[in-house]
Amino acid sequence: MLDKRIEFLIEEEAKRQNEGIELIASENYPSKSVREAQGSILTAKYAEGYPGKRYYGGCEIVDAIENLAIERAKKLFNVQFANVQPHSGSQANFAAYRALMGDKHGKILALTLNDGGHLTHGSPVSFSSHLYDVVFYPLDENAHLNPAIIRRALEEEKPDVFLAGYSAYPYAIDFALLRALIDEYNLKNHQHCLFMVDMAHIAGIVAAGLCSNPCQYADIVTSTTHKTLRGPRGGLILWNNPDFTKAVNSAVFPYSQGGPLEHVIAAKAIAFAEALHPSFHQYIEQVLKNTKACSDELIKLGAVTSGTENHLFLLNVLETYGLNGKEAQNLLESNGITANKNAIHNDQLPPNKSSGLRIGFAAVTSRGADENDARKIAQLAHKILKTRTVDYREEARDLTRKWDDVLELEYPLIEA
Ligand code: PLP
Repeated sequence: MLDKRIEFLIEEEAKRQNEGIELIASENYPSKSVREAQGSILTAKYAEGYPGKRYYGGCEIVDAIENLAIERAKKLFNVQFANVQPHSGSQANFAAYRALMGDKHGKILALTLNDGGHLTHGSPVSFSSHLYDVVFYPLDENAHLNPAIIRRALEEEKPDVFLAGYSAYPYAIDFALLRALIDEYNLKNHQHCLFMVDMAHIAGIVAAGLCSNPCQYADIVTSTTHKTLRGPRGGLILWNNPDFTKAVNSAVFPYSQGGPLEHVIAAKAIAFAEALHPSFHQYIEQVLKNTKACSDELIKLGAVTSGTENHLFLLNVLETYGLNGKEAQNLLESNGITANKNAIHNDQLPPNKSSGLRIGFAAVTSRGADENDARKIAQLAHKILKTRTVDYREEARDLTRKWDDVLELEYPLIEA
């Protein structure tokens, strides 16, 4: 690389990733193959439009790549249609809202943001609350989705779109039940509320067949490709009803994006092929086991956690250690462990402090962490937060030594 300053900083970041324990629930390590595709000469190609209908010449090869990505996404999620062009999860949500509601300043019923919704699910600082009328359903007193609360919210709010899928919800989601509630509401009230699922966080668990598949129940499903799915940074939209095809595709291009990132689409295709391989199922199984082992160990040590049924859990650092989320995040970071502050159910502290930490195991499991490591991470985090010292850097570093180098990771993939 000719730019030595950037080269140096990339090397420093690789070192930081290799020497640290990464517990941010939305992060993961893509394979070398995925990164190679992402850094390929495909970045030089303009391909506005869709395979077979491009605005530029010279697109036969990128057409083949995008078609492969689409076919693999459809196979992976057992769905009829896929758009692999969204540049990110937020772009996918922007396009999905447009596809579902057109020009209408429609009403979206989403989860209360403090309970685990994403910025694009109606935050005052996001386009979503400016273009749409976003109203919210809460969790119940046990911080779980509750059918009676959702039924009541549907009746009261009469939304155009019901939105499920979250950034910090640690439990399984019964998509069949949510579909049934929406159908029941529509039938009873002669309404036409549509069902959207943003599965960004759990896409890998869905792909592995280890939780309910929202594609079977929702009108439109959006996702990122870089969290549990372990691909390049990017977005994805899936649907089954051909009536949505034109609306989704035109909402992505030309409504909200220009030229697709074909280098990223190639990387997505590789990630889908990796997720289709049986070893991906084992990987996600290990993620779930590690997350539970860490949460269980913390509970054994006296900590208050949400418990978990997926790849993440919430640790109530205020109740357990008398620290706010920001202080806990900083303490862990000073010792080489990265996690992020997160609101807990009914949090009394503002979001920039918050009372919890969100802890996830998708990333360290990709490097080879097992349940024993997860328990050691729990003990280490507990010591750090209890003693409030920076004495554990070496102990954290030691744990990472036997894990794989983040630059060398390769995952088996299905034959193309
Ligand atoms: N949807 C959910 C549920 C998320 O958690 C996130 C990111 O954290 C997104 C969408 C947005 O993804 P991106 O950062 O790629 O825009």
